[in-house]
Amino acid sequence: LTSGLESAWNKLKGEEVLTKENIVEPMRDIRRALLEADVSLPVVRRFVQTVSEQAVGVGVIRGVRPDQQLVKIVNDELVKLMGGEVSELVFAKSPPTVILLAGLQGVGKTTVCAKLAFYLKKQGKSCMLIAGDVYRPAAIDQLSILGEQISVPVYKEGADQKPAEIAKRGLAEAKKKNIDVVIMDTAGRLQIDKGMMDELKDVKRVLNPTEVLLVVDAMTGQEAAALVTTFNLEIGITGAILTKLDGDSRGGAALSVKEVSGKPIKLVGRGERMEDLEPFYPDRMAGRILGMGDVLSFVEKAQEVMRQEDAEDLQKKIMSAKFDFNDFLKQTRMVARMGSMSRVIGMIPGMAKVTPAQVRDAEKSLKIMEGMIEAMTPEEREKPELLAESPARRKRVAQESGKTEQQVSQLVAQLFQMRVRMKNLLGVMESGGSIPALN
Ligand code: GDP
Ligand code: MG
Repeated sequence: LTSGLESAWNKLKGEEVLTKENIVEPMRDIRRALLEADVSLPVVRRFVQTVSEQAVGVGVIRGVRPDQQLVKIVNDELVKLMGGEVSELVFAKSPPTVILLAGLQGVGKTTVCAKLAFYLKKQGKSCMLIAGDVYRPAAIDQLSILGEQISVPVYKEGADQKPAEIAKRGLAEAKKKNIDVVIMDTAGRLQIDKGMMDELKDVKRVLNPTEVLLVVDAMTGQEAAALVTTFNLEIGITGAILTKLDGDSRGGAALSVKEVSGKPIKLVGRGERMEDLEPFYPDRMAGRILGMGDVLSFVEKAQEVMRQEDAEDLQKKIMSAKFDFNDFLKQTRMVARMGSMSRVIGMIPGMAKVTPAQVRDAEKSLKIMEGMIEAMTPEEREKPELLAESPARRKRVAQESGKTEQQVSQLVAQLFQMRVRMKNLLGVMESGGSIPALN
């Protein structure tokens, strides 16, 4: 997926802006890359359309190349596609929280049972596992061994009992022991069948679980999304756990599940060890797919600095010679942000390299200025003339901000100098641009 996308970005090298025409080829690459990653076709279609629309509509951010902009748009859409935020596990208001695991055979349910208990134990929760796979005697042993390994109790009965009955007695046992979280393992089949669904429905009725999580194998690609949808319709689930993401899965499952089924992926398994289970972070997943974390943070910072309306607003103010202390503050902050940005990235075209010491100095003087501006009345901020005319006002600001009168005078003078400089810069030579002498 990553290499397919790479060729998309490369096609934009040398372009000035994103246009309807020049994104056609890159979008074709993105589409192909997603399909090759086994993302389902309707999802790919929607994705490509949304990204295209946004790419053409996006304004030019100074210092950001079109390919970088497209990376950012694709990233943001990938994150959205995967549900945006992390979808946390839900816990019952009064314990025990019951988590029911379902899924086809061999996807990793029994392993997840133990992994999840291990994960929750680290968060200080007491757990109990219920062995509900009565069809394979080995499955009960498997869970017992894993439970022992992580020191979590396992409730089990003979293979001749019905899962729903085991669930009922297991839950009672957990309540008696004041267990925080009960996790129930169930039997899987090779394919979805009515027997499995009916059994799960029975177990669900008995347990009234807080979470019903479908365990799916990432290697099944877009099929994973279809499975989540079916299980959700049949028994009602709260989310999915994607296992075997450490294998050579092509990522299609991670990308499709939420969009197709409406249910979030809550956790992912990345290996066979007990510690190989973690929350599903859509942003990290997108980052891994794109493998371009540096470009993303760069574009983000640039957007932050160049927030369009800020800039436009400021320009209007400058043109009308109304540049006041509010704008002064805004502008100084913007410059300070640029400073820290160039420190992080050091690659903004047209901007001089700023040393860390310079950034620190700028931040320090910004602090001092902010203090003084905060001590001004709203009227003084809007009409700096008031301060220029009145030593008493300057004295008050100095006292309130704990600075000297000289510092305040300097700040006021600086503002008027800026007015003039900006007007000159813009070639606007009308009145209002003179620097008054301070009284
Ligand atoms: P079940 O039939 O759904 O209960 O599946 P199991 O828990 O018995 O797991 C089947 C096999 O998959 C076992 O060999 C596990 O060690 C392996 N497995 C489970 N989760 C993962 C994972 O995240 N990564 C890898 N590589 N293997 C896994
Ligand atoms: Mg099992």
